[in-house]
Amino acid sequence: MSSFLGSIGRSMARGTQRVQKRSPTPSNSTVTSPIDTVAPSSIFAPPPPPAQKPLYLSSPFVEAALVKGNFKTIVMLPKYVDIMEWVAVNVYDFYNNLNEFYGTIAECCTSEACPTMAAGSSLSYTWINQERKSVHLPAPTYIDYVMAWIQTLLNDENVFPTKSGNDFPQGFPSTIKHVYRQLLRVFAHIYHAHYPQILHLRSEPHFNSLFAHFLAFGREYELLEIKDVKGASSAPVGIGALWEKWKEMGLLEG
Ligand SMILES: [Zn+2]
Repeated sequence: MSSFLGSIGRSMARGTQRVQKRSPTPSNSTVTSPIDTVAPSSIFAPPPPPAQKPLYLSSPFVEAALVKGNFKTIVMLPKYVDIMEWVAVNVYDFYNNLNEFYGTIAECCTSEACPTMAAGSSLSYTWINQERKSVHLPAPTYIDYVMAWIQTLLNDENVFPTKSGNDFPQGFPSTIKHVYRQLLRVFAHIYHAHYPQILHLRSEPHFNSLFAHFLAFGREYELLEIKDVKGASSAPVGIGALWEKWKEMGLLEG
């Protein structure tokens, strides 16, 4: 593990070069910050149907066009690059790529088709609203809130500094972890609810690569908690099984 979380302070000094200039993008409306809760759909919900293997766990889709070998090599910190910069640039790219993917399937993600932010047969994520209440939102609304919230952070020079001389704030690692957890939920929803559309668009090689890269990067820099990837045993996250499968295949490490 590279000690991203432990590196605050010592890597704040700007001795290293910028990886790339992040382009300013238009800001969206402000939304409340998503604080995390996970709620099983309902304790009265009928038991899940007999386990049927989701398509994303089935061959050949589970292996589709993943880079040969281990993702470790592409997540390693390049020489002379500041760890904060490296994490910021990668998170920026994950956000943009995922946003683009979601755009290609968004017409299928409606409040009728996805009345909750489902990510497993007995799991729907809830949102904390302004009254601090945990509420179920239709998936498209939930995802819009998440993406708008992240976009606002990315545009905030105090959170994601892009100008030379501006340092990353003390709270940057914890902000990034928060962002990462929400991006994971968007991946989880797309895999759970929209994999047929991904297949229809023949995007599964690219989507799998993006997600495997996201997982490898998140584990390397301690941005991802295993419990968020796998969920509770009573309400597992669908993609937890995919993560296990990719570990078995030697693509990812623990
Ligand atoms: Zn949906």
